[in-house]
Amino acid sequence: SDLTTTILDRIRDVPDYPRPGVMFKDITPLLGDHLAFSSAIDALADGLAVDKVVGIEARGFILAAPVAYRSGAGFVPVRKKGKLPAEALEASYDLEYGSAVIEVHRDAFTPGERVLIVDDVLATGGTARAAVELVGRAGAQVVGVSVLMELAFLKGRERLADVDVRALVVV
Ligand code: 5GP
Repeated sequence: SDLTTTILDRIRDVPDYPRPGVMFKDITPLLGDHLAFSSAIDALADGLAVDKVVGIEARGFILAAPVAYRSGAGFVPVRKKGKLPAEALEASYDLEYGSAVIEVHRDAFTPGERVLIVDDVLATGGTARAAVELVGRAGAQVVGVSVLMELAFLKGRERLADVDVRALVVV
């Protein structure tokens, strides 16, 4: 579709970032283009009734905040460990080398609130899986995970089998 092309044309492959052998999907050309950015936000916000939109640090913030505004929902940050000021819940997940910890404020949600999790890229799904667990433990209901781009060869969707995963483009 038009939207797919608009998005795909503005996500750039950067070889050997952040490490040799990795092909990084750089969304900054999309963010810098008003029509592409606003169309992507509209598509990410489309059709789901939610109370809160969670953005995953850092690129997820850039997308989730306008999605929240557009959806008439609140915004909740999920951050790397140690960045949130008040009492937080944490979840750890495995990376290719080592592990990472993300956090959310313990009082970020009212019990049962409907939550959409937004990030830029779904790769192995480790980050999104940890975010789903975190939101659940904070007492809310995850109604979906929405991303700009899914890297299908990394099979992240398999780790999110219980979640409605939407990607504007799949490569
Ligand atoms: P995963 O946990 O699914 O393996 O990786 C997804 C997380 O890492 C997301 O938060 C995403 O921002 C980041 N990420 C992994 N690979 C890429 C990439 O190629 N491009 C961008 N923009 N982010 C990536």
